[in-house]
Amino acid sequence: MKEGSPLEKTFNGAELEVVQGDITLSAMACIVNAANTSLLGGGGVDGAIHRAGGRRILDECVRIRSERGGCPVGEAVITTGGNLKAKHVIHTVGPVWNGGKSGEAEKLGNCYSSALRLAEQHGIESLSFPNISTGIYGYPKDKAADVAIEAVTGELARKHAFERIQFVCFDRENYDLYVERIGAL
Ligand code: ADP
Repeated sequence: MKEGSPLEKTFNGAELEVVQGDITLSAMACIVNAANTSLLGGGGVDGAIHRAGGRRILDECVRIRSERGGCPVGEAVITTGGNLKAKHVIHTVGPVWNGGKSGEAEKLGNCYSSALRLAEQHGIESLSFPNISTGIYGYPKDKAADVAIEAVTGELARKHAFERIQFVCFDRENYDLYVERIGAL
């Protein structure tokens, strides 16, 4: 199947972009990882980032884990980008979908806002997000897209220094959902 072409929209001084593809190839300053609380790597996008970024990312994750016991759901930590083009990886932990009445939306929104705030503290002006929780963690893709876009535009609505925020959609379903929503902003 042909990949979707990029869509761009200016939002309060930042470019919001939807692309379809592999986040490990991102040219942004930072990519966000959908990690798990252990920070020790896993499947899906987490596995892909550790494979492409190499040992230095895992070494920093291990150090962070020994200092603070991992990363709680909805929070974020930062490491080097290792061998990636991106200089940094921000690891955040999405919620596991459990029917929607266990605070999943708030937790998922927190992933996006925590990642952006941490990025800001590190002077990062461009970053790529994957579709957190919509793989192994089973979050319905349409609902996750609503939450992600609301959280990101909420952060961008205030004074900020971001130049470009990319939603990197691996599958066509997510890409179509994001194109529809970002296009309508
Ligand atoms: P989670 O456990 O948070 O659900 P997954 O890694 O299973 O994390 O999936 C999150 C999203 O990342 C899914 O939409 C999945 O299709 C996507 N994904 C998997 N590999 C990549 C990749 N290399 N680049 C971008 N997105 C990816």
